[in-house]
Amino acid sequence: MSEAPNIRLLDGRRMQCKDIPDETFLNAVRRTPGASAMNWRNRWEVHATLEEAVGWIPENLLLAKARKLIATGKMGGCDCGCRGDWHPPDECVAAHCCHPPG
Ligand SMILES: [Zn+2]
Ligand SMILES: [Zn+2]
Repeated sequence: MSEAPNIRLLDGRRMQCKDIPDETFLNAVRRTPGASAMNWRNRWEVHATLEEAVGWIPENLLLAKARKLIATGKMGGCDCGCRGDWHPPDECVAAHCCHPPG
């Protein structure tokens, strides 16, 4: 049984979240078509869009980067490993989601 590789090497070291700029990730979210009034993007579509920009990245790295962006309020959604459903806060229409104050 073969498993998908879960690391990508960059110059001989493991690729990390910091190797994906926040803006690059968020641009991939923006470029992925949203669903429903909440403009949710599912993570598989974002993953494919992001890979067009940065090349192959493992799923665990995608989720780790999403976790950081959500924790710092740069993106709204879920990072538990489900379908995700991510959106940029400035596209958020729900008062108790990730809508920026003001
Ligand atoms: Zn979830
Ligand atoms: Zn939101």
